[in-house]
Amino acid sequence: MQQHTHSYYAATINNHREFPVLQDNLECDVCIVGAGFSGLSSALHLAEKGFRVIVLEAAKVGFGATGRNGGQIVNSYSRDVDVIEKRYDKKTANSLCSMIMEGSDIIRDLIQKYDIDCDYRQGGLFTALNYKQFADLKDQKANWERYGNNDLTLLSEDELRDYVGTDVYCGALLDNRGGHIHPLNLALGEAEAIVGLGGQIFEQSTVTRIEKGSQPVVHTATGSVKAQYLVLAGNAYLGDLAPKVSDKAIPCGTQVIATKPLTKALAEELLPKNHCVEDCNYLLDYFRLTSDNRLLFGGGVVYGARQPQSIERLMRPKMEHIFPQLEGVDIDYTWTGNFLLTYSRMPQFGCFDDNIYYLQGYSGHGVTCTHLAGRLLAEALTGHAERFDAFASLRHFTFPGGRRFQIPFTAIGAAWYNLRDKLAI
Ligand SMILES: Cc1cc2nc3c(=O)[nH]c(=O)nc-3n(C[C@H](O)[C@H](O)[C@H](O)COP(=O)(O)OP(=O)(O)OC[C@H]3O[C@@H](n4cnc5c(N)ncnc54)[C@H](O)[C@@H]3O)c2cc1C
Repeated sequence: MQQHTHSYYAATINNHREFPVLQDNLECDVCIVGAGFSGLSSALHLAEKGFRVIVLEAAKVGFGATGRNGGQIVNSYSRDVDVIEKRYDKKTANSLCSMIMEGSDIIRDLIQKYDIDCDYRQGGLFTALNYKQFADLKDQKANWERYGNNDLTLLSEDELRDYVGTDVYCGALLDNRGGHIHPLNLALGEAEAIVGLGGQIFEQSTVTRIEKGSQPVVHTATGSVKAQYLVLAGNAYLGDLAPKVSDKAIPCGTQVIATKPLTKALAEELLPKNHCVEDCNYLLDYFRLTSDNRLLFGGGVVYGARQPQSIERLMRPKMEHIFPQLEGVDIDYTWTGNFLLTYSRMPQFGCFDDNIYYLQGYSGHGVTCTHLAGRLLAEALTGHAERFDAFASLRHFTFPGGRRFQIPFTAIGAAWYNLRDKLAI
């Protein structure tokens, strides 16, 4: 039986129901593989529209990236607006960029509508480590405003001191529509809402085989589900179940640590307004406070999702560089999780064999986009596929180097971008 990884989130999980193992042959309208945010958002949006949904989860609800992430509600894809505008035709770019803010609104609506207790806090900062990054943030603000996000404030180096207790940054962009959450508790709240609407969820029920057809059937070790539509939402944890959707993306690991609870005074010194922070580097660091005043700090990428030998040894120096006040502080939790990287760094949504949909590849920023994905899927299955198709029309490429060399090649590419960040070029 696969349990949650030993994280701060698993240690502070809300009381919740245990979901059964699938031990039957069932039928439904839509069967969803994976109970992360992609699968849960899909199931919830579909159940709200009256679909009979079944979610099959290999381990526990929120077992994957969803229950391990930094909890940052980031209003962007993993590509900035200017890159999207340059890369895609005007109609597609316009459609993609006008949806950029929607995921965070969906999260706030769900929290309110289903009364989900998940420590929601408003406000996120993108911090600049050099003046080039600060100039880029100014451009980004203008770009976002063209698509309707007017809740942004540029903060100078001096102004930023009221938000983050460090002198490593030279400015920031404050997004008042960003914020942070306890992601595992959000996922559990969404699961509860799905059940409340008549949906079914099964845990410890790994899908091992897909039988394609006019009504696809998925098989687990102890049961099966026949559906009108199948949704693959296993992201970096999907493995070889559907090679067609995995061959243009690579799983990557990223690590998180959580300190012991800090004194209120120290927590307020680090983040006086309790906003979350992510920096502008290609290999970025991100951090925030938890509701019990721990600093939760994440960053770095391990291409190919190998487990590093010591997460603390990797992460502590980064944290202490930003906050020397935390030198030697006890670290209570360390964990790792996998996200799915695409070559374009845009998410991969699509459909094959007419009735098998997939949602994956958020490339590190998925808390908001997974929620958008579920809404778009529900729109597509009710005859309004235009917005889903804006994503599905994006071309995706295999990483250079083939199966054998794509991981070292990608790591070399990232090292180059990392160097550019350090040299501010
Ligand atoms: C450490 C870390 C920190 C992050 N921080 C942030 C952040 O702060 N902000 C942000 O926006 N994004 C962040 N991300 C990215 C974000 O968490 C992900 O993009 C998002 O959670 C992906 O959700 P998902 O549902 O697509 O995949 P997952 O949450 O990984 O869920 C996939 C689920 O599918 C299940 N599954 C797989 N195969 C099968 C099968 N065959 N049968 C049944 N079930 C199956 C898995 O067990 C898993 O539970 C972070 C990611 C990581 C790893």
